[in-house]
Formats: sequence, C-alpha cells, structure tokens
Amino acid sequence: MSDPYLTESETLLRKTIRDFVDRELAPNASSYDLNEEFPSTIIKKLSELGFFGLTIDTNYGGTAGSTTQLAILTEELARGCASTAVIFASHLSLCTKYIDLFGSDGQKRSYLPGLINASTIGAFALSEPDAGSDAVAIKTTVSDIDNGFLINGTKHFITNGREAGIIIVIATRDTNLGSKGMESFIIEVPASGLTITPQKGKMGIRASSTCELHFNNVFVPFDNRIGKPGAGFEMTMRILDIGRILIAAQSVGIAQMALESSINYSKTRTAFGSAISDFQAIQTMLANMATEVEAARLLTYRSASLLDAQLPFETTASMAKLFASKVAVESADKALQIHGGAGYFAPNIAERLYRDAKVTQIYEGTSEIQRIIIARKLLED
Ligand SMILES: Cc1cc2nc3c(=O)[nH]c(=O)nc-3n(C[C@H](O)[C@H](O)[C@H](O)COP(=O)(O)OP(=O)(O)OC[C@H]3O[C@@H](n4cnc5c(N)ncnc54)[C@H](O)[C@@H]3O)c2cc1C
Repeated sequence: MSDPYLTESETLLRKTIRDFVDRELAPNASSYDLNEEFPSTIIKKLSELGFFGLTIDTNYGGTAGSTTQLAILTEELARGCASTAVIFASHLSLCTKYIDLFGSDGQKRSYLPGLINASTIGAFALSEPDAGSDAVAIKTTVSDIDNGFLINGTKHFITNGREAGIIIVIATRDTNLGSKGMESFIIEVPASGLTITPQKGKMGIRASSTCELHFNNVFVPFDNRIGKPGAGFEMTMRILDIGRILIAAQSVGIAQMALESSINYSKTRTAFGSAISDFQAIQTMLANMATEVEAARLLTYRSASLLDAQLPFETTASMAKLFASKVAVESADKALQIHGGAGYFAPNIAERLYRDAKVTQIYEGTSEIQRIIIARKLLED
C-alpha cells in the first residue's frame, strides 16, 4: 500500500533509493567515515540514476522532478551515510541550483551538464573565518580588471572543496555597502592564485571534505559573474532557504537510522535474562524517537511541497531545519544510550550517527538563526 501523503512516483523513488542505499551505501558508510574517503563509486552511480539532475531545468540536461523528491532522496542517502547526503546536497542545492536559478543561458550551457552528470563536483563558498551567521560581514573582495574580476580573501568550512571543479564564491565589492555590495561568481578549479586546504579534525560527516580556500588575485572572466551587481545577497539567501529543506531531510534520515538501529539492537541484546526491548525504559525511548522522526519528516515534506506549489515556504523550511536537526541530535543520543558501551566505540553505527547528527544544527544557518528567522516572520506587521 502506498503512503497517502506521497505520490506514486515519490513512493517508487523512495523504494528505488532505499534499495540502493541498503545494498551499496550503508554497508560501506563506516569505512568511508573511518578512512575519510570520498564515496566516488556511489556518486558515480547516483549520477547514472539521474539523481544529480533532480529539479534542474530539462533544457540543460536536468531531470526536473520536485523538491519533495529531492527531500526523499536526501533523507534516504542520509539514512545510509550522512556524509554522502551532505556531499550530494551541497553539490546540487548550493552549487548546481545556484546556476540553474540565477545563471545566464551561457553559464547554464557551460556548467550544468558537467554538474548533472557529476563529472564536475560543485561547492559553495560563503563562510569566512570572521563571517558565519553574519554573512554580510564577509571580507573576500572582488575588484574589476580588463575582461573580468579579481577575487581576494579567505573562505573556510567549504564542503566538497577538495573535490570541486566548480565553486560558487560570494564576494563583496565594498564592505561598507553591506548586503548590497555582495556578488556571486563561478570559479573553475584549479585556478591560478587559489589554494585549497582540507581542514582536519572534523567531528562527523568525515567522508565529506571541508576546506579552507585562499584567493590571491584569482582571475574570474567577466562572463562568470552570476546575476547583476549587488544581487549576490538576495540570490544567496534564496539558495540557503531551499538548502534548509535538504538539511532537514538529512536530519530525518539520520534520525530514522538511529531509530532502526536501536530497534534491531534492542531485540538482540539481552540483559537480566531478556531482550532489552522488553524493558519499558527502552520502549519509551523507541516510541519517542519514532514519533519525533515522523513529525520531523512531515514538517520537512510540508516545506518541500510548499516550495513545489510555489507558495511561501521559507519560514516552514526554517522550522523544518530547526525541528528535524534537534530530532536528529536527540535520536542519535538515544540510539547511543540504547547501544550502551558498544555504542561508544567505533565502528559502531550509534557512535557515527552521534557524531554526524550535530552539524545539522550548525550549517546553513544555526538553530539560533532559524529561531530569529521564524520569530521575525511571526512578529512582522
Ligand atoms: C562541516 C561544515 C560544513 C560547512 N560547509 C559549508 C559550505 O559548504 N559553505 C559555506 O559557505 N559554509 C559552510 N559551513 C559554515 C556554516 O554555514 C557556518 O559554520 C554556520 O553558518 C555558523 O557560522 P559560524 O561557524 O561562523 O558560527 P558563528 O556565526 O560564529 O556563531 C557562533 C554561535 O553564535 C550564535 N549566534 C550568532 N549570531 C547570533 C545571533 N544574532 N543571535 C543568537 N545567536 C547567534 C550561533 O548560533 C552559534 O551558536 C560549514 C560548516 C561546517 C561545520
């Protein structure tokens, strides 16, 4: 029987991707994590299945589809391997989508096909050492020269930085102009003057790379500015609004696996002569997790379907990210508790989920920033 709140094609997509994840991704997730290994084989297979073209214009090789489908896909990937989900989401929703929504015809023709078949990996570089939540405080500058621009400055915490062939970079023309001074560019990698350094010691999502980018007079051709001068802030905020739906979906996937692994373990682990699943304390944790995961999933799908219906979705997307990321962190915590001491040692799924969950409350707008966005909407006249 199909799920009444999903269409037939969405139900089929979930089944297809879940089978793939169970067969090919989940069994290798622990090794990708321990070795900090980019899952190239998986990325190639996802591109062969057409998933990197989801929601992207069919005129440029995309496969169209809905944000709800994208959320389902991201959730299922995260259920098997959170690192793969963030690699996928950063590539598609922050880089490919940026060009799809705001790029010129020439930019779309030049860059979308390679991003859709994943022969080129995409990244998005906004954050800087002195500008995270306060994105308008960026100090990376752009200046004009003949036929183009020069970029100078430092970005950090950039997902996919090690593998990227294309990076969307946000720079300012003049820090005194605030949001109105921000512009967006497509940088092809390698680029003369651009140094990319992987940042070590990351707590979770270790199979994805996170890098510092140093720009020293990096030349960008005139044709590689996205949109009009001064439009960078607005375009970037729009991309982050959409991206939050996928972080919510990633959170749901992590929480779902925390629940499933806890159910399985609690049925096989015995204490005091019975399975620990017989104890009411364990059952309470499982029941709470299942209820919260389902609520987080519904809020996530709702934000996706609002966007698909071209209705205001931004506040709901913030609520979905805020709530689902909390559920991911709390579910991973409960999963580790249910796994007891075994869950405290790698390679154990509860240990990995616990480390992977936390970042969902930090990137693409921290939980504090989501509350500010939601409250601002509630209080507006
Ligand atoms: C693994 C990882 C991958 C990432 N990938 C990318 C990427 O691909 N591209 C990219 O551009 N960035 C990326 N980021 C950066 C991420 O988006 C930022 O870390 C995030 O926006 C928070 O910024 P910050 O770390 O500078 O924290 P800060 O902004 O310094 O915040 C520190 C604390 O202060 C709180 N705070 C800040 N302002 C307020 C306020 N007004 N009211 C209340 N509390 C406030 C925050 O909520 C937080 O708790 C990544 C980060 C991580 C950890």
